[in-house]
Amino acid sequence: MIVLVMNSGSSSLKFQLINMDNGEVMSKGLVERIGLGGVAGFEVKAKGEKIKKDVTADNHKQAVALVVDALTKGDLAVVDDFSMIDAIGHRVVQGGDSFPKAAVVDQRVKDLVKGYGVMAPLHNYAALAGIEACEENMPGIPSVCVFDTSYHMTMDPAHYMYAIPYEDYENLKVRRYGAHGTSHKYVAREAAKALGRPIEELKIITCHLGNGASISAINGGKIVDTSMGFTPLEGLVMGTRTGDIDPAAVLYIMKHKGLSPDEMDTYVNKQSGLLGVSGLSNDFRDIEGAMDEGNERAQLAYDMFVLRAKKYIGAYYAELNGCDAIVFTAGIGENDDRVRASICADFDALGIKLDPAKNDGCREFRDVSTDDSKARVLVIPTNEEYAIASETVEAIAEAK
Ligand code: AMP
Repeated sequence: MIVLVMNSGSSSLKFQLINMDNGEVMSKGLVERIGLGGVAGFEVKAKGEKIKKDVTADNHKQAVALVVDALTKGDLAVVDDFSMIDAIGHRVVQGGDSFPKAAVVDQRVKDLVKGYGVMAPLHNYAALAGIEACEENMPGIPSVCVFDTSYHMTMDPAHYMYAIPYEDYENLKVRRYGAHGTSHKYVAREAAKALGRPIEELKIITCHLGNGASISAINGGKIVDTSMGFTPLEGLVMGTRTGDIDPAAVLYIMKHKGLSPDEMDTYVNKQSGLLGVSGLSNDFRDIEGAMDEGNERAQLAYDMFVLRAKKYIGAYYAELNGCDAIVFTAGIGENDDRVRASICADFDALGIKLDPAKNDGCREFRDVSTDDSKARVLVIPTNEEYAIASETVEAIAEAK
């Protein structure tokens, strides 16, 4: 089965064409600066080669047309015709409580994706634009929505509720939804495979540490708790997001700086986190580079990132009453041995120990804990595109 994975952002479109029979990535690439006026960027990698060019893409429909062209025509074509694509899997950030699993797209699904756009305006409307652009450019190919929130739908009310008047949960659907679900699910399953044990009997803490970051507690393959909440803002310190903050501080800042709700939204989502504290960058490599040169605010941003992650792991260790494995994944989790060592330092009380000989320089799938560590500490590269394609295949099979 050949699956096209689409990840539509407000001004970008990333794609991968995957042959699910053998896992081969046949083609991948992205269109950038969609609808921003001027030239858009287009990059495609296939057959061991890469092309990069400036194009026109005023909207997602044009961007998808470029992708279809690249897949079917010219030097890097990998299929004769779009009809050879069996299904399209779309990443959708927010599925509310309506989608405990991926869903084959129909009008009801599109209406719900649009409706939940109020909670993820940057993401859901872009995903919908991507879905509609695929319907127009590749009529007849079934589309599936794969939601970042689905895997978290096993949380119980004590975990997903906020302590707010209950009617606001009922009427406004204000509750915790989580995010990065496809990644947490993928690495948890890979961890079970690596441990050679059924996931049903494992307790796993998965740490997705990238520009956006979240940690989940997983018992028996099901999410018990996760650090992101109503939106992907709650929880860890992130590249540009505050993570946990007292709402009273938000109100105080709004009042004293005279910020509107939209301006405050930008403040907490785009101007805070590592960038806000360091005043330098949202990129972890820049933070560490500056810290190594003695920059105190970069050091503070690093320490805050590590501390918040440690707090969540400790909390989830207590919630799960122990754990079999802690998994590190995503840009920082996979590549940064120093941050893994900092987070796992002084975990002796929990019996968790990193082995520097295994951890140092590790950027690949590996157990980096000592033989006597009470929990395995695993580095597992995430593969969200493959996970989305797998869920697309499952949803299509179930719909038949
Ligand atoms: P992601 O959102 O998963 O793509 O992760 C992006 C983050 O990973 C950025 O903050 C990068 O600085 C960070 N990152 C990528 N490679 C490394 C590395 N080798 N060491 C430290 N951080 C890295």
